[in-house]
Amino acid sequence: MSFVFGPVPSRRLGVSLGVDIVPRKYCTLDCIYCEVCKTDKLTVSRQDFYDTNEIIEDVKKIYSKIKENIDVVTITGSGEPTLNKSFDVIVKKLKTFVYHPIALLTNSTLFYDNKVRQQAMVFDIIVPSLDAADTKTFQMINKPAKEINFHNMINGLVDFSKSYRGKLFVEVLLIKGVNDSLSHLTKLADIISSLKYDVIQLNTAFRPTAYKNVQRLSDAELLDVAFFFQKRGLKVEPVKNFISKNIQDNDKEELFEKMLHMRPLSETDIVELFGESFLKKVKDDNKFQFFTYQQETFFKKF
Ligand code: SF4
Repeated sequence: MSFVFGPVPSRRLGVSLGVDIVPRKYCTLDCIYCEVCKTDKLTVSRQDFYDTNEIIEDVKKIYSKIKENIDVVTITGSGEPTLNKSFDVIVKKLKTFVYHPIALLTNSTLFYDNKVRQQAMVFDIIVPSLDAADTKTFQMINKPAKEINFHNMINGLVDFSKSYRGKLFVEVLLIKGVNDSLSHLTKLADIISSLKYDVIQLNTAFRPTAYKNVQRLSDAELLDVAFFFQKRGLKVEPVKNFISKNIQDNDKEELFEKMLHMRPLSETDIVELFGESFLKKVKDDNKFQFFTYQQETFFKKF
């Protein structure tokens, strides 16, 4: 069997070689938006699923052939990687021949456990996901194993972030009507503010999900959340990057109009999101009302 997949392009980390160290759908959560499938092995029981040397030999073989073409090696897969109780041993062995940064994608549920926190220090980059700001929302969106206590998990992640020396990118996945209300986003912003992190990466259900009736946010709504977090002083992945990676040139006008439906946009917002030439076009078109607020020009719909 192979433990390695990719290289795959990842919005977050560049071109990544993935290493899957737990069997399919051994997970501590059963997220409604999971792209793999519903979780059939919902557990917090940590195990040695495989012989670590088998994993290492497999990575060695593939890494030697593609190392010139990747940016990162990522411990991830179709379940929660920290359920592998020797994940730190695997990473230490990888580091004897891998010269790229090694990243962990985790749902961070086991970070309440001091042992897991200590083991995770071995990574160069960690991307913990954090979708809920209270127990009720956590139950709705992430459907955790019964042993997981939301507050212990958050406390563990906060503690970890303060002593971790690598890069921490917090992933927040938003689902319409579940975790995107203003009151919930406000609580989420408060929790994230208590972490020591590098940047927040916003996401939504772009691909088919494990559960039915899971609705993604539109690009405009996702951007609005990015602004909301930024205005609360949080570091969100540059919105400009988000646009340039997700929005085609000919879709900009439609997105711009949708955003204006939600709220006025300043000239600075427009330049950051769509570029100088788009701002010029908006001015020339003369289709939008504008007003001045605190010495800044804002556009809104007629
Ligand atoms: S934590 Fe990841 S693998 Fe587990 S259910 Fe959620 S999305 Fe799927």
